Order: sequence, then C-alpha cells, then structure tokens
Amino acid sequence: MLVRRGPELFLFDCGEGTQRQFLQARAGINRKMRIFISHLHGDHVFGLPGMLHSLSFMGRSNELEIVGPRGIVEFVTSVNRVVKLYNRFPIRIREVKPGQSIDDVEYTFRVAGARHGIPCLAYAFEEKPRSGRFDAAKARRLGVPEGPLWKVLQSGGSVRVGRRRILSKLVVGPARRGVKLTYAVDTRPCPQVIKLASRSDLLIHDSCFAESAAAKAQEYGHSTAAEAATVAKRSKSRVLALVHISAMYEDASPLLAEAKKVFRQTILPRDMQTISVDA
Ligand SMILES: [Zn+2]
Ligand SMILES: [Zn+2]
Repeated sequence: MLVRRGPELFLFDCGEGTQRQFLQARAGINRKMRIFISHLHGDHVFGLPGMLHSLSFMGRSNELEIVGPRGIVEFVTSVNRVVKLYNRFPIRIREVKPGQSIDDVEYTFRVAGARHGIPCLAYAFEEKPRSGRFDAAKARRLGVPEGPLWKVLQSGGSVRVGRRRILSKLVVGPARRGVKLTYAVDTRPCPQVIKLASRSDLLIHDSCFAESAAAKAQEYGHSTAAEAATVAKRSKSRVLALVHISAMYEDASPLLAEAKKVFRQTILPRDMQTISVDA
C-alpha cells in the first residue's frame, strides 16, 4: 500500500514483489519516504531487502526511514550484515510501540496494537487541521489592501484600516480538518483499532475471509469482510477498503457483498489501483 502525499511517499508493509510493483507505479525513487511495517510475518517484510537494494541501485541518495515493531532493526541489520546490500543512502530505523506517535510538521502518525498471533501494529495517518479559507474579496470590500496586512489576517491577527479594526475571523473561515487514513492489517476486529480509526476518511482493514470461514479468521488472527465492515461502522469511518484477501478466493466479490451489508461505503481495490482521498 503506497500513499503519495504531495512529494512524499508512505509505504505500508513490504511483502514479496513490492519492489517490482513500486517501480511499475513510477512513484519516484528519491522522494522523502517512510516505510511502515506492521509485523514480522514474511508476507509483510520479505520484500524489504529487495526494495532497499532496488532503491539504491536506481540511484536513491536521500535518507529513508523505516518504522516498525520491535525486531525490525534486527531484521534489517542482519540482512545487511549477511548480504551486503548495495546501500548508497542512509537508512533510519525506528521501533515503535502501541500508543506512540510520530509527529511531522503537517501530520502525525499514531500507532496502536492490532490483534494478531504475534505483536502487530496498526497505523493512522492524520493531517493537522489547515487554517480556514481566506476570503480575499471580502478583505478588499472591507478596505484591506493586498499585501502584508493580508498575511496578518491569515495568521489570525487583526489589522487597523483607517479608524476601523478588522478581525481575522471576519475574513478567514473556520479551520479545515485534514485527511485521516488508517491501516490495520493483519488483525482481528478489536477496540484498539476502532479507536485508532475513529473518523477516518479511508480505513484500510484486514479482510482475509468470507463469513463461511469465520472460524479460520479467528484461528489465524484475521478478520472476515463483515467484521472489517463492523470496524468501519463503529469507528465512523467514511470509506472502507478491503485488503489482504486470502488467496483461496479467486473471486472476492462475495466478500465485498458481505461487507456492504454492514457498511455501504466499502470498496475492494485491485492491484495498482489509485484511490484519491480528501477530507
Ligand atoms: Zn500476519
Ligand atoms: Zn499478512
């Protein structure tokens, strides 16, 4: 799962074949990039050495950050020790725990514990609220000339025009909420994920099995499509994307139908499909 936000990339998990798909997606090899690993099962990390190798080989020079559960440092460093990776760019690896968050200028990543057979992390990406829309026409009508005074109003200050004081709120709308996106794979439906996913614009959730295999989902620490839909509903998310569908389903449309009975705004993305998300 690759998220592109302006010039930045966030990759969620790195199973086998990721490097090939990544190059095919032409996502850009030298962008600011973070890779988030949910847990140390092969289908989520076996693509990582290949990905690092490819990026280096293709000429990446910028630092890359890898975020994951305890053990991710050992995984990357031991592969690097045994197989000398062709590394031309710095790699920063950060081990995180449920409850932690990673703060950046315009957004925050929150971490929660998923419910799987081994320690597994779910991540939520949350943009910080953006300042309200500036009504330029109104500012002109109120006699505020374009220039430094507009900047003052935009940053929440008030200005004086003649004998009149103009408050920011007269020309700047309410703060706009940012995009929220939650990634929860692999997991049983659980309260920690519901809380993490609260009011997501897009919830990407484990949907390994159909209802007829509900016992299997429970046994292997995965969710059925309908269970994923329940998480979407209870977290008041806007759209649910069903992922991590078991290979035993050649046709996953019955899973989509089962989820839609619980949560109508459900989608079943194809490989290489692009989805736009806004707040
Ligand atoms: Zn797993
Ligand atoms: Zn998995």
